[in-house]
Amino acid sequence: MTDLTVNEPPMTPTNLYSVTDARELPAVDPAEVIFEIRDCAVDYGNHRAVADVTLDIRAQEITAIIGPSGCGKSTFLRCLNRMNDFIGSAKVSGTIQYRSEDLYGSRVDAAEVRRRIGMVFQRPNPFPKSIFDNVAYGPRINKYHGNVGELVEEALTRAALWDEVKDKLKKSAFALSGGQQQRLCIARALAVAPDVILMDEPCSSLDPIATSRIEDLMVELKRQYTIVIVTHNMQQAARVSDRTAFFTTDVDDAGNRTGRLVEFDATQTIFTSPSDPRTEGYITGRFG
Ligand code: ADP
Repeated sequence: MTDLTVNEPPMTPTNLYSVTDARELPAVDPAEVIFEIRDCAVDYGNHRAVADVTLDIRAQEITAIIGPSGCGKSTFLRCLNRMNDFIGSAKVSGTIQYRSEDLYGSRVDAAEVRRRIGMVFQRPNPFPKSIFDNVAYGPRINKYHGNVGELVEEALTRAALWDEVKDKLKKSAFALSGGQQQRLCIARALAVAPDVILMDEPCSSLDPIATSRIEDLMVELKRQYTIVIVTHNMQQAARVSDRTAFFTTDVDDAGNRTGRLVEFDATQTIFTSPSDPRTEGYITGRFG
């Protein structure tokens, strides 16, 4: 008898799954690096708000950014979809490659960047329009040629909101609860077929039940999207994220405060055996 492995394909992660399971596999390699960030810094005028950020963000993971207030978490997050372009004094340096392309390259269309890399904010910010029109807004301005009704239903379903709103799509978005409004904003972001979703403290204005629904939704969404979340809630980072970046603020002799990345690792490692004493101090509540 010959060796049974002869002529077998090599054992790659994909063929470790059965055919049935394979249909559930993500479309992209989960190890794929979506953002390669090297020495990223942001200055507002002559204030260096954040510096020395070097990390990779991987496909279909939730990457959490934690750290004390003012350490540059939101500033850094805004670098990832060029939202800092709207702040006149902001200057981004270093390199951010998005799917191997320089995100700040001269030929890159920043509007297209923001379509592919959507953002959900701290406070739900629905438009003063109906539930339907909030979700349909992006596809319409992008001149979507397909069936907008179907697209709206799909986005609301993915955002775990469809069942709650399907009978009142024409009602104002403001008639929804805060948690529902936030899921509507997530549906609005999903409706333009993004690749990445950035979330800047998406639960900070929500009660624990609404927070828990958004956390469940994030875990569900990462099957298809890459998610980066800024949170001041360490339990939330520990619950939902795969990797965590801990930032803190350095103060120089002149009193200038600059946020820096201290440590970036698997969330489990950050919360159980961090390598930097500043991370340990923060997660155990000794400072920050
Ligand atoms: P965090 O999200 O960690 O609380 P931020 O990114 O909001 O931190 O802020 C980091 C630093 O950048 C702070 O010193 C803040 O005052 C400053 N900053 C943030 N946004 C602006 C802005 N639009 N213009 C000038 N300075 C800003």
